[in-house]
Amino acid sequence: MTEIKKDYDYIILGAGASGLSLLHYLLAEPKTRSKKILLIDQSEKNANDRTWCFWEKEAGAFESLLTKKWSRLYFHSPAFSKLMDIGPYQYKLLRSRDFYHYGHGLIKEHANVTFLLDKVTVMDKDRVNTENGQYKASYIFNSVMYAFDIKPSSSHLLQHFKGWYISTKEEQFNPEKPVMMDFRIPQTDGCSFIYILPLSPTYALIEYTLFSETLLEKDAYDVFLQNYISKEMGIKDFEIKEREFGIIPMSNAKLAKRKGKHIINIGTAGGNSKPSTGYTFRFIQKYCQTIVNNLALHRDPLHGTTSLIPKFKLFDSIFLRVLKDQKIPAWTIFNDLFSKLPPSVVLGFLDEDSHLWSDLRIMNAVNKPAFLKAALKEIIP
Ligand SMILES: Cc1cc2nc3c(=O)[nH]c(=O)nc-3n(C[C@H](O)[C@H](O)[C@H](O)COP(=O)(O)OP(=O)(O)OC[C@H]3O[C@@H](n4cnc5c(N)ncnc54)[C@H](O)[C@@H]3O)c2cc1C
Repeated sequence: MTEIKKDYDYIILGAGASGLSLLHYLLAEPKTRSKKILLIDQSEKNANDRTWCFWEKEAGAFESLLTKKWSRLYFHSPAFSKLMDIGPYQYKLLRSRDFYHYGHGLIKEHANVTFLLDKVTVMDKDRVNTENGQYKASYIFNSVMYAFDIKPSSSHLLQHFKGWYISTKEEQFNPEKPVMMDFRIPQTDGCSFIYILPLSPTYALIEYTLFSETLLEKDAYDVFLQNYISKEMGIKDFEIKEREFGIIPMSNAKLAKRKGKHIINIGTAGGNSKPSTGYTFRFIQKYCQTIVNNLALHRDPLHGTTSLIPKFKLFDSIFLRVLKDQKIPAWTIFNDLFSKLPPSVVLGFLDEDSHLWSDLRIMNAVNKPAFLKAALKEIIP
């Protein structure tokens, strides 16, 4: 039996988006800031392995780390194009390297926080095994291991995407006119769109995104991007500076929020990825902030997190089913929403920050027969 090396108040498994966000909120809260905290990750996390985009009305917890924010976004479909004013929201771009750098700065500044570079192998009750040791805590916050509880009625898709940061010799982009979704590309491999985030007139992130059941061949994303940039955008002379690839589960299958009394799941493992859009970063913030508020009040960490927004779970399931059934082209769903409603109503709904009146406006905007059929299948499986 491995010897238990140390006891901690909290162990955080994974120093990615949710692990470091939780650390940020723990250290910002007077009642938890001096707890003994261990963070374990198998990677030093010093590369820019992802770019987080999200929208917020107010300044968020990581405002000073943002690379850029916008108050207007383009939406394009075969039927409608608009540069939308998204007030009161702002669309924000955070590069993961800046976020990891900030998190590792926090670890260095706080003597009560330890970082361990190791691989987690098992967790059970109040213990964690890594390849090199065993550790114990009052609470273990896990973002590294998870399994879906798949029921026959569950809908699953994958959101998969490849992005290139490119630099061009000549000015090609308007940094104030990002493209949130451009559906004017072939839809043969599933719901597909392009995303263009210009950071300067000569530098932009261009991402090819699909919602579908299976991934493409590995090279297909690059072939598409190369063709799109050179033929559709007409940019011949460019250099790829960075690449990112991601797969986000879009599923209404249940993820257990905890494993026993002491192990709490966070991040994607804690169900923070929104099934219908894959957006996760904002939900991680709400969830981690709630956990820390609960700890400060000596309540169970998950108090109030499960019953927060059950109606959105149903909406997500209906949306996933419409996408999966493919009775209507997927782009028409977003087209209906953005062409018929103010962007703030759509963004508020997708951010799970909407009330009955906005929900009714959303229901009225979408294709009613397709959504009603999907709703019936979800309610009476
Ligand atoms: C390329 C990409 C782009 C994305 N863009 C957006 C976006 O624009 N907006 C948005 O809202 N969401 C986005 N997401 C989704 C989501 O926000 C991210 O996946 C987010 O990083 C999830 O946070 P997390 O803490 O759950 O997981 P992660 O950030 O992946 O952190 C998990 C950590 O666990 C570590 N780890 C894994 N296994 C082990 C192990 N066995 N032992 C020790 N450590 C381990 C990993 O090294 C990692 O650091 C994106 C995802 C990807 C992949």
